[in-house]
Amino acid sequence: MSRAHNFSAGPAVLPVSVLEELKEVLVEFGDTRQGLMELSHRSPAFDAVIQSAETRLRSLMGIPDDYTVLLLQGGASLQFYMCPLNLTGSNDSIDFLDTGTWSSKAVKEAKRAANAANIWSGKEDTYRRVPKTGEIATRDGSTYLHYTTNNTIYGTQFHDLPTSAGRHLVADLSSDICSRPFPVEQHDVIFAGAQKNLGPSGVTAVILSPWAVDRSRNVGSQRPGGLPSMLDYGLMADKKSMFNTPNTFGIFALDRVLAWLEGKGGVAGMAQENIEKANLLYGELDRSEFWQPHAATDSRSQMNVTWRISNRDLEAVFLQEAAANGLNALKGHRSVGGIRASTYNACPKASVAALVSFMQQFEAQRG
Ligand SMILES: *Cc1c(COP(=O)(O)O)cnc(C)c1O
Repeated sequence: MSRAHNFSAGPAVLPVSVLEELKEVLVEFGDTRQGLMELSHRSPAFDAVIQSAETRLRSLMGIPDDYTVLLLQGGASLQFYMCPLNLTGSNDSIDFLDTGTWSSKAVKEAKRAANAANIWSGKEDTYRRVPKTGEIATRDGSTYLHYTTNNTIYGTQFHDLPTSAGRHLVADLSSDICSRPFPVEQHDVIFAGAQKNLGPSGVTAVILSPWAVDRSRNVGSQRPGGLPSMLDYGLMADKKSMFNTPNTFGIFALDRVLAWLEGKGGVAGMAQENIEKANLLYGELDRSEFWQPHAATDSRSQMNVTWRISNRDLEAVFLQEAAANGLNALKGHRSVGGIRASTYNACPKASVAALVSFMQQFEAQRG
């Protein structure tokens, strides 16, 4: 079997070496004489796995020692509600930067817990760009600012991160976690579904500052009966992500992806490669009027590259021929249309090079 070039937005391509390792452990894991998925989450063997995953994530991302790292379930989508539930009371307000579909979904959930509102929106500009620092005016007394570092669907990314202006910062890193250095210490909550840059779906990395954990305990103590157990950051921290059965297979896979990332020179080494991939692809998009890149130049994502073909009629043909040439999952999200190439950490530079050469050939024939 020859593997196609996979540009899926998520679940996304994984390193082949990791897939091979996963195959190995299904039937026999280490010297346990049983498969990884058959192992108790309370066993010493699994304890070593989850500790290793946490240690690697801490070291790769430079997470301060007094921060809490959780590996939960429910995806980033559950964090859209869990985060405001733990950090705010119903009289508190939360500011959002509306940079696309995922931030819109986040504000919708937050409204169930607090006074949540967008203080900036890119909607009228079809989410082509993210705001500059000077455009962000937080509301008086708001508790925190929520933003999405990389907008998976529209293909934009913050390059100058918003400053907090005295607010706590919450960031959804689902589609660019560990793709570049990131100042964890300036944030109070960071979360990311694993299925784009960290492993398979079903695991969510949640990183909490000491303030966020304390705040969760205070909010919980003011509610009759406390917070619902499965939605309680304080409880999840006390139980080290094992209040109930975690996704043991997913956590093992995440540990292996992080080990692979260490071999790539960590987040800094990976960032270099991601920049090279992005430059290759944007270079082609800028070369000819045949292509119309969606994102504004200074907001371009290094993870999800989105574009249209000037002659819209050619888009379906492009996708069809690309697939026939082993270039998979290039269809843009229905809200943007056109073409999207997701080039996460595990997408090899060779895949991007293959895509670019296909694009040049396609343009030569149809342009
Ligand atoms: C994919 C994605 C989500 C949704 O993640 P789930 O794990 O499916 O809930 C949220 N935010 C961003 C930025 C994403 O890319």
